[in-house]
Amino acid sequence: MIHTSLTAQQVVDATGGALVAGDAAARVTGGILTDSRQAAPGTCFFALSGERFDGNAFAPEASQRGVSVAVVSRVEEGFSSSCAVVLVDDVLEALQKLASWWRSQVEPLRVVGLTGSSGKTSTKDLLLGVLGQAFRVTGTQGNLNNHIGVPLSILRAEKEDEAAVWEMGMNHAGELAPLCAMVRPQIGVITSIGSAHLEFLKSREAIAEEKCTVARCLPEDGFMIYPADCDFVEMIEASTRAKLVPVGGSRGLVRAEGLTSDRDGCRFRLVIEDSGSCDVALPLHGRHMVSNALLAAAAGWCCGMDAESIARGLGEARLTKGRLRCLDADGVTVVDDTYNANPESMKAALETVAQFPCSGRRAAVLGRMGELGDAAVQEHAGIGAFVRACGYDLLIVTGCDADTAAMAEAAQGGSVRVEQASTAEDAASLLAAAVQPGDLVLFKGSRSSGMERVMHQVFPSS
Ligand code: ATP
Ligand code: MG
Repeated sequence: MIHTSLTAQQVVDATGGALVAGDAAARVTGGILTDSRQAAPGTCFFALSGERFDGNAFAPEASQRGVSVAVVSRVEEGFSSSCAVVLVDDVLEALQKLASWWRSQVEPLRVVGLTGSSGKTSTKDLLLGVLGQAFRVTGTQGNLNNHIGVPLSILRAEKEDEAAVWEMGMNHAGELAPLCAMVRPQIGVITSIGSAHLEFLKSREAIAEEKCTVARCLPEDGFMIYPADCDFVEMIEASTRAKLVPVGGSRGLVRAEGLTSDRDGCRFRLVIEDSGSCDVALPLHGRHMVSNALLAAAAGWCCGMDAESIARGLGEARLTKGRLRCLDADGVTVVDDTYNANPESMKAALETVAQFPCSGRRAAVLGRMGELGDAAVQEHAGIGAFVRACGYDLLIVTGCDADTAAMAEAAQGGSVRVEQASTAEDAASLLAAAVQPGDLVLFKGSRSSGMERVMHQVFPSS
């Protein structure tokens, strides 16, 4: 159980709030929550407010369902007498202050802070597997990587944890610094620097500069892990006092040699500078996953693990649903990468699937990539051209806007048959009419494009 030692008084002290009702000795034994629908006995409710909702209004009802401490910025009528009510100026800030304080209470020996344009959650999941071989480890649940998710992740840590892996995401400049201040990583990982979030950050340099926030916050005895072939290696290296750990390529301190792949995943020899090597059977697909695996291996190495234990952890890796998951649906190989997409991850998936053995035809069902700002049309056209160059037989573009139209148009002219469907339903009908046993179909698009709907409609077992 989480936070057996957290009392209302500690919440008051850490947040700088005032206890306006209830008992200072009230205990939080059931975790921290921000959704009043999850209210349960012994929990601590933070009444966050947004543009369309006011958490303070839900706090009294949550207290009736057993919440032992409620943190609010306005006190409504109707609190249960057994609930300690803490009044603060700003509930989000209070949550972040509590997380910072809790981080110093648990003080795990090894704390990894992960950021990057793509691959954070995959690398985090791989690293949890690796570190789990040697340590009691806590980490981000799912994708809780923003200004609310990071403090909630930190607040799930327990004093017995020996290592922590926390994912930090960002859409806008300046967002990483407060996350880094809460996480206080000793080991920083930048997974990739791509063009995700160009809409808000305008240039790749600006994105790189923002990612380097993690490099800047590391202590001198820390480690900075990054892809050796990243365009912004010099910027990363100049941004940190920590020991540099470039990964991958031929000059990485941690490298993959003799890479081969099949439908079961990738095999390679994991080579760690001065620390030996070991064969890895990674049950995941794609060169980008090998890159993520190497980043995770490097972090394991920085925590003092040997190549054998790291290889074992990678071999047992299981990723969250929707990320290049291969399955058989009535003889058709379905590749589910519907979780999300940006230009880099789109190309990585297309390239990977283009190399899978396939006795039938190769199809891609692609949706729109969001948050690309002015670069959107050009980036979508780039993906269309890439599909044509990779030798796909069928492309079904889903959506009816200038971006998806540019993708469809740029794919024309080669051997690929290109169809554009305005809705998920239309895409499903087109695909259902075209697909046969032996074929291979990749589904991918931004979260908002809902490509999983097309997939489930055509392949209900997926
Ligand atoms: P988010 O910003 O949504 O949290 P994330 O950084 O956590 O994303 P993942 O969830 O690991 O990234 O992967 C998202 C997509 O990017 C997946 O489709 C995956 O196939 C692809 N991907 C994963 N790692 C890389 C990488 N190193 N380079 C390029 N694409 C990648
Ligand atoms: Mg993520």
